[in-house]
Amino acid sequence: GRVPFIAGNWKMNLDHLQAIAFVQKLAWTLKDANHDFRDVEVAVFPPFTDLRSVQTLISADKLELKFGGQDVSQHESGAYTGEISGAFLAALEAEYVIIGHSERRQYHGESDEIVAAKVAAALKHGLVPVICVGETAEDLEKYGPSAVPVSQLKAALNGAAPDANIVVAYEPVWAIGSGQAATPEQAQQVAGALRALLGEVLSAEAAEATRILYGGSVKANNIAGFLRETDVDGALVGGASLDLKEFSSIAQFRK
Ligand code: 13P
Repeated sequence: GRVPFIAGNWKMNLDHLQAIAFVQKLAWTLKDANHDFRDVEVAVFPPFTDLRSVQTLISADKLELKFGGQDVSQHESGAYTGEISGAFLAALEAEYVIIGHSERRQYHGESDEIVAAKVAAALKHGLVPVICVGETAEDLEKYGPSAVPVSQLKAALNGAAPDANIVVAYEPVWAIGSGQAATPEQAQQVAGALRALLGEVLSAEAAEATRILYGGSVKANNIAGFLRETDVDGALVGGASLDLKEFSSIAQFRK
C-alpha cells in the first residue's frame, strides 16, 4: 500500500535559525506523540537558505523527518544567476523537490514545458519531484474539475520513464490560502482522474504506487476527511505547516 505523506511547504517563511528551532520542536512533538514515520511519512520544504541547517540537524539527531527544496533549476549548471541545481539538492541529501507550484506558475512564468524540464532534472539527480497541478476558479467554471490538472500532469510527465518515482500534489488554486478547502469528494474526483492518467502515460505499477496529495487550506480539522478518500494519499500543507501544533496534529491525523 501507499504510505501516507504529510508535506509542509513553508513557502517564503522562516529563516535558517527559525527553521532549526521549528524542526527541533516538531521532532520533539512527534516523538512525544510516538509518531511512527513508517506509518505516516512527514517532510518539510524550507527555503533554500535553510536547507543546509535543516539537513545538519536531521542527520546529527538522526531524525526520521524528510526534507526537500521548493523548486529546482531545469539547467544542469552554469550561467544561471540565482538558480539552484538538482545536483546541489542531491548533495544536501534532499529527498524531494516541489515542482510547478501554482505560485511559481503564476509569479515566475513557469510553463508546462519548464515544469517538465524541471521534473526531468529532478529525476536525473535521484530527487523525487512533488509535481503540483491545479485549476483556477475560472478554469473550474470553464473546463470542469479535472481537465486542467490532468493536462498539466500529462505535460509535466513528458519524457518520464514508466517507473518514474514521483509524488503528485493536486492543489486547486482557489483553495490555496483561502480558507476554502475543496471537499474530500472534489479532491477524490480529481485524484482519481490523475491516477488514471498515470496509468496511461507511465504504467499500471506507477499508477498504483504513486502518492497523490491534496493541498489547499488543509488544517488539523479537515485532514482526516481527505485521507479517507481512495486516491488521496496525503497533503501538501502551506499556512498550517508553520504552526507547530497544527502541523503535528495533521501528521497525527490517524489519532
Ligand atoms: P495553504 O495550506 O496555505 O492553503 O497552501 C497550500 C499550498 O500552496 C501548499 O503548497
